[in-house]
Amino acid sequence: MLHKLPGVFVAGEMLDWEAPTGGYLLQASFATGAAAGRGVLAWLRHS
Ligand SMILES: Cc1cc2nc3c(=O)[nH]c(=O)nc-3n(C[C@H](O)[C@H](O)[C@H](O)COP(=O)(O)OP(=O)(O)OC[C@H]3O[C@@H](n4cnc5c(N)ncnc54)[C@H](O)[C@@H]3O)c2cc1C
Repeated sequence: MLHKLPGVFVAGEMLDWEAPTGGYLLQASFATGAAAGRGVLAWLRHS
């Protein structure tokens, strides 16, 4: 979730990343998408 825009979740290349996976960008996009989805659910539960 963006600190400055609560409720806005980003994943994949929207993140300011330096390709920490050294390639495998699709895998990283899917993984951060799943993490963002879990973040949405947690945020909705607590709001
Ligand atoms: C030529 C090429 C080859 C690649 N080969 C590989 C590979 O072999 N293996 C690998 O792991 N990675 C590869 N990558 C990298 C990988 O494709 C990307 O890192 C990944 O697709 C990024 O996913 P994303 O969802 O972050 O962004 P994107 O896939 O770019 O998705 C963003 C989506 O948002 C949409 N969008 C943009 N603006 C708006 C808007 N204002 N409103 C609504 N929708 C909007 C776009 O139309 C797009 O559908 C390759 C990239 C390129 C360019």
